[in-house]
Amino acid sequence: MRAIRRFTVRTVLPAELAALGELVHNLRWSWHPETMDLFAEVDPDTWQRVGHDPVALLGAVEADRLAELARDRRFLRKLADAADDLREYMTAPRWYQTLPDAPAAIGYFSPEYGIAAALPQYSGGLGILAGDHLKAASDLGVPILGVGLLYRHGYFTQSLSAEGWQQEHYPSLDPGGLPLSLLKEEDGTPARVVIPLPEGRALHAQIWVAQVGRVPLLLLDSDVAENDNAARDVTDRLYGGGTDHRLMQELLLGIGGVRALRAYCRVTGHPAPEVFHTNEGHAGFLGLERIRELTEHRLSFDEALEAVRAGTVFTTHTPVPAGIDRFPADMIGKQFGGDNAWPTVPVERILALGAEPDGPEGGEQVFNMAVMGMRLAQRVNGVSELHGDVSRGMFQGLWPGFDLDDVPIGSITNGVHAPTWVAREVMELAGKELPSLVEIAQGWEGVQKLSDEDIWAIRGRLRRRLVEAARERLRASWRARGASTAELGWIDEALDPDVLTFGFARRVPSYKRLTLMLKDADRLKQLLLDPEKPVQIVIAGKAHPADEGGKRLIQQIVKFADREDVRHRIVFLPDYDMALGQLMVQGCDVWMNNPLRPLEACGTSGMKAALNGGLNLSIRDGWWDEWFDGLNGWAIPTADGVEDHDRRDELEAGALYDLIEREVADRFYDRAGDSHPRRWLDMVKHTLSSLGPKVLAGRMLRDYVVDLYTPAAGSARELSKGEHAKAREFAAWKLRVTRAWPGVRVEHIEASGIGDTPELGASMEVRATIALGDLSPDDVSVEAAYGKVGVHDQLLAPSYIPLTAGPAGDDGKAAYTGVVPLDRTGAFGYTVRVVPSHPLMSSPAELGLIAVPEEPAGMTSGTLR
Ligand SMILES: *Cc1c(COP(=O)(O)O)cnc(C)c1O
Repeated sequence: MRAIRRFTVRTVLPAELAALGELVHNLRWSWHPETMDLFAEVDPDTWQRVGHDPVALLGAVEADRLAELARDRRFLRKLADAADDLREYMTAPRWYQTLPDAPAAIGYFSPEYGIAAALPQYSGGLGILAGDHLKAASDLGVPILGVGLLYRHGYFTQSLSAEGWQQEHYPSLDPGGLPLSLLKEEDGTPARVVIPLPEGRALHAQIWVAQVGRVPLLLLDSDVAENDNAARDVTDRLYGGGTDHRLMQELLLGIGGVRALRAYCRVTGHPAPEVFHTNEGHAGFLGLERIRELTEHRLSFDEALEAVRAGTVFTTHTPVPAGIDRFPADMIGKQFGGDNAWPTVPVERILALGAEPDGPEGGEQVFNMAVMGMRLAQRVNGVSELHGDVSRGMFQGLWPGFDLDDVPIGSITNGVHAPTWVAREVMELAGKELPSLVEIAQGWEGVQKLSDEDIWAIRGRLRRRLVEAARERLRASWRARGASTAELGWIDEALDPDVLTFGFARRVPSYKRLTLMLKDADRLKQLLLDPEKPVQIVIAGKAHPADEGGKRLIQQIVKFADREDVRHRIVFLPDYDMALGQLMVQGCDVWMNNPLRPLEACGTSGMKAALNGGLNLSIRDGWWDEWFDGLNGWAIPTADGVEDHDRRDELEAGALYDLIEREVADRFYDRAGDSHPRRWLDMVKHTLSSLGPKVLAGRMLRDYVVDLYTPAAGSARELSKGEHAKAREFAAWKLRVTRAWPGVRVEHIEASGIGDTPELGASMEVRATIALGDLSPDDVSVEAAYGKVGVHDQLLAPSYIPLTAGPAGDDGKAAYTGVVPLDRTGAFGYTVRVVPSHPLMSSPAELGLIAVPEEPAGMTSGTLR
């Protein structure tokens, strides 16, 4: 018989051990090895058996053992120390507490979170990043409140069929068996959020709180009795189901998420967020909910929009147009219109927020969550410099008339949370010479003082640990594929703890090119079996359940790794998750990544490897494009311009094999009289000292706080003062300027002072006549744009200087003048542009309005000598 429901009965801890409950229910243990040591002491065998999951440990440990521990003075002392340490971690002032004007709180929204393997609520990089964001925020004292969904079946676990085909299993998670607590109102009833749906239905949810160090993470869960069956299943799986299901999830995350935050702040007295950050577009409805809140407090839609934009940060994560989240517009119309409309928020305005700028005339209208995200957030960023570039190109259509460089999308490069990803041995060794890997302290050059012997010994230990764990996982996988123990003797010898070890682990969308290494299978085999300088490869990755193509790629890899001649040198380990990820980034000598450039927005697994003393071998994409310096690893040459994909793969794979053979393996096996490879270790040390301070999530958090959160809070405060007086004024100003803009023209431009032979260092005076229509000079900024010009007279990355207004004539025209320095040689050009100007704008492109001369450039291409 199957039980119709399951739940977990929690252990009642003896009073002496109450602190153990506190330690278990704060996920800080997941990056604090000393706390894990304490859990291990509770019952070492059980700890092993439950896979280092402390909630499971408390559920499984015998009452006798707990009674024994309650009398064990030594254990109680350790427990008291650990509890003290946690309390101090939770309350001591940190970096953030030294900042003036920083926001009182920040709401951070993400559809997935990778906090710990024991809380499987992530599928890949986006979730892992969100987890690292919260953890680094906790370490730095940043008052973030995380918001997400609790998926009752999480993301799938992966195994293989005998034929190497991916099999998916969805574990049934019981919140009672996870480190979560239910948010309750003061009267003890569970807090609830409700979202009305069309046709009189409603979506109810309860709110679980995961404590991630200092950061509470609110997870909404629709599996409650008030819901009909369909509504109950809304939070069943991460990225499962069709469009309808996804819309329900995103409504719950965005709208329900804001309501959950309000409930949390009401119950706990936590300050309300001043800034809302949406990690990718899935949570974008949060902006609508905040507009609704404000319109119910007597702001108009436009006024509320300004107030919301000022305090919203949107991070885009995909450079792949197909990766953008879209809904049929009529689905959105149905949710937010008709009987279900919000009285103060017109559905047409909502639809306009998500309309694509070059959407089809009369074709099927789509509602684009990224586009809405950009219209609802005054500050937008990509996740590496290259991705910032690509995003400016992708979304340029939202700011017509503006040059690529003016598109107001910046970038903050991702980072990784060292205490989560760096092996304990490495942390301890680093602790000898480095103040702390968590803080971006000075002193990374201290790495050079570490001894080669120490580093090599640790690298060897981590490689061996990976090899041993890989054998165990391989054996389990072969059993699951139907092999008998007798056939599996070879696994005792699979992989070699002394052989140069490559790692390749990631999700399996086609752009990541899992099978590039198989392009020339004979060549790969030669590298694996080289008698002097062999390499071995450990591979892992999950394909999305609906992605048949991805599953075929996995099967190809598995079939190759099954071959008797190479199976001791190349293995595919099923079920890539945080635990396997940690083993791999710690144990591999080389971390390999070969995406189709520029489709990897950032990539973070290579950063984790680098912090453990691994070297990167990667296409120059995402973060590696930015920070590869010629000495901290290797760049696989890309064949970017080659249109034929097959040919491109062939070229890049060929370059990869050459690099491995001629440089990577050569260096690793060059022992020149020592037992350790000196030239290799030089690269390791250079990698740690050059990348160490950059790849940390702490650096990323500081960037977010300083460059985005604090300015956003500043704008939001400014706009909210005096019952939102400035928001009203700014909205009215935008409306007036937008209406009057057709009357703005650059009528005439002339320049003097250049002479026949313009020379570097000279300058010219530029005069422009500007028709302002109904606007005044205060409403606009008139600027000379100048610099190098390309073959079609287009200005390349121009500089701007403001021109000064003379007195306006009665005809609404004004003369503007300014001096342009001739500050570079070669083809030089200039023109004049007019853009709106207001102190509350965050970029000249904010309104998407610009006026330039009818003829593209005023005077083009004088050549300077
Ligand atoms: C770090 C990590 C990722 C993201 O890695 P990328 O390099 O961005 O692909 C995905 N899954 C797991 C389990 C990870 O640890």
